[in-house]
Amino acid sequence: MIVTIAADAPANTTTSILAAAAASGLGARSMPDGRGGELVGVDGFLPADVLALPGIGTVHSIHKPYMLASKEHRSPSVVRVGDVAIGGARPVLIAGPCVVESRDDLLQTAIACRAAGAEILRGGAFKPRTSPYAFQGLGEEGLRHLAAAREVTGMPVVTEVMEPDQVDLVAEYADMLQVGSRNMANFPLLRRVGRTSKPVLLKRGFSATVEEWLMSAEYILASGNPHVVLCERGIRGFDPLVRFNLDLNAVPLAKELSHLPVLVDPSHGTGKRSLVPRMALAGLAAGADGLIIEVHPNPDTARCDASQTITPAELARIRQRGDALHAALAGVDEDEMGLEHADLILTA
Ligand code: PEP
Ligand code: MN
Repeated sequence: MIVTIAADAPANTTTSILAAAAASGLGARSMPDGRGGELVGVDGFLPADVLALPGIGTVHSIHKPYMLASKEHRSPSVVRVGDVAIGGARPVLIAGPCVVESRDDLLQTAIACRAAGAEILRGGAFKPRTSPYAFQGLGEEGLRHLAAAREVTGMPVVTEVMEPDQVDLVAEYADMLQVGSRNMANFPLLRRVGRTSKPVLLKRGFSATVEEWLMSAEYILASGNPHVVLCERGIRGFDPLVRFNLDLNAVPLAKELSHLPVLVDPSHGTGKRSLVPRMALAGLAAGADGLIIEVHPNPDTARCDASQTITPAELARIRQRGDALHAALAGVDEDEMGLEHADLILTA
């Protein structure tokens, strides 16, 4: 059950609800709603006399286990990263190298991505690598380079955090914290990023169901951070010709179930440079609120994930075609929802 607190509520409204929940043996916690207000999530149903307390705004009975992430109680959310709105009218483009390689390289890439139409810079400073012998990223030095690139381009930056103990350090530099596919079910990490106020990009685990992904988002939301963005980045398939299968079903599905914005990562989702432009556009056609794409001025020389990295010129074409595609598909969701009704009219 989700109870929102009215803007003019008496000061003790939240504590009264929490006390009443505890007295009924129900778990409950209060948190910001991400829209300037406050809400209380209750694991169960409060008695009617409690719901009649002064200061209670709305009351929603939620039937999904991911009650805060669920769309049952609110309209789609917009998450702000610096001055960029994810989930707004225009799809957002996040671009940059897989890994931050050097200050000069990053600045060159960031400037080129900006010119190509990117709005947020990506780049790993702490990298989760399959091999312990592979380059693991520059660490804090990489974070400093990201901050320098923000200074030069004005773009906010998103970068991965892998461990609960790194969260404060990464949050000092980054505008958005990325939780990677391999850490989607790292519950201590989810709780820890949930105790910051930075927006979080939550990638789907490559063998996680959509419901498990939403439950991971719930960990962050329930820890008090309402600023969560989901990212579909491909799931394990059986075909060795591609690295992962970009699961585009998951995009409209997650948006049907949750109010959180959803991004698509066609770079990791394919592992193949030649497939990225088409699958980026397919992601937008599936209803994504934006894309996150690996870009390097000389993709073949990229130190990590070269085979899936595209050039700034290719990124500019995705920006152009993506905007046109998005405009052409405006209103699709509303039309689909009205379809049943339209059929009735046509057959009447
Ligand atoms: C990344 O985006 O840098 C990354 C490592 O992606 P994923 O967690 O989806 O593999
Ligand atoms: Mn990568």
